[in-house]
Amino acid sequence: MMPIGIYLHIPFCVKKCAYCDFVSYAGKEEIITPYFDALSQELAWYVQRHLFDDYRPLTLYVGGGTPSLTTPALVRFIQNTEKVWAFDTLQERTIEVNPGTITDSQLPQLRQAGFNRISIGVQSLHNRELEILGRIHTSQEAVSCFQAAREAGFENINLDLIFGIPTSDLASWQATLEQVICLNPEHLSLYNLTIEKETPFWVLQQQGKLVLPDEETQLAMYQTGITLLTQAGYEHYEISNFARPGCRSQHNQIYWRNEEYLGLGAGATSYIRGCRYTNTPAVEDYIVCATADHAPYPATVVTIEKLDFAATIGETIMMNLRLIEGIDLTAFSRRFGIALEEFHVNTLDKLYDLNLIERYKNHIRLTFRGVLLSNEVFQEFLL
Ligand code: SF4
Repeated sequence: MMPIGIYLHIPFCVKKCAYCDFVSYAGKEEIITPYFDALSQELAWYVQRHLFDDYRPLTLYVGGGTPSLTTPALVRFIQNTEKVWAFDTLQERTIEVNPGTITDSQLPQLRQAGFNRISIGVQSLHNRELEILGRIHTSQEAVSCFQAAREAGFENINLDLIFGIPTSDLASWQATLEQVICLNPEHLSLYNLTIEKETPFWVLQQQGKLVLPDEETQLAMYQTGITLLTQAGYEHYEISNFARPGCRSQHNQIYWRNEEYLGLGAGATSYIRGCRYTNTPAVEDYIVCATADHAPYPATVVTIEKLDFAATIGETIMMNLRLIEGIDLTAFSRRFGIALEEFHVNTLDKLYDLNLIERYKNHIRLTFRGVLLSNEVFQEFLL
């Protein structure tokens, strides 16, 4: 049986944040029930055709959007899904939660539904920064959400944080980090704010009205994050991710190892048997299409990309290099039947010379300089 991760996309939010270009919609609560019906239909399409009979689901990740906004419908969906697809092989079940979108009494319901990991979108512990980001919650609500999750029995909690927020500086970022370390979550994700096209932040930037910390400060923020978290006992195991020993995200490691996953829902992507399938991001279209029969793939799918040998290798290298341990050379040659050094000799030599990658035991990994300049390294493998 081959392992597979399952991703469920829930594209509903109370309000769009100013930086967000994810597939998520505000003010569409009235279609939550039909959306979950569509998810059931999409899953049934695969199950009825026995397409995953030889797969063993290892992880379930419910992301969004704001899955916590849909807790009652989600819990019902999970209970019904377990009747058609054996979920007893799942080792990790994660749900993303945003503060201010879930009641304390709903958190135990998520535990009872089998979720054993929760990821909370904290982003900052400064109210002014949260307001600028367009978040709907305060820092106190974020802390209360964390404490309520603990009380509900969640022993594996991730907190998402953003650095490089307008008006922030090194001192404010450090204060956020110190406060979250005191909460003692098992896992932390630190993301550098990026300005995505067509978002309100992008419009402000075009108008010259968005002032971000300069590049040097953003780099210092990232380095401060690494220093404080590793000093606090977290393992820096992926460019943006830190974990207590034994608490790495199993689901996200499937992506970073470029292994197979099934994505269900509007805008979700699957990577199965060498092909990447992407569903329509338009939530109403998704609901309509999920009920249509469109063999040999669900009608929700709008793009199919067959990855050839070279593309699969390139993506595997880039995803593996996101892991601090880097590319396992034995696993690589077993998977592709060729040694990495033979396939990408010129690129590797160039990156060695620039001190961006290094050989460590049986791995090739980013140097610390390479971690800081990772986008430039990845670019080399795309050329
Ligand atoms: S809560 Fe998350 S998904 Fe929703 S709008 Fe904000 S950033 Fe986007």
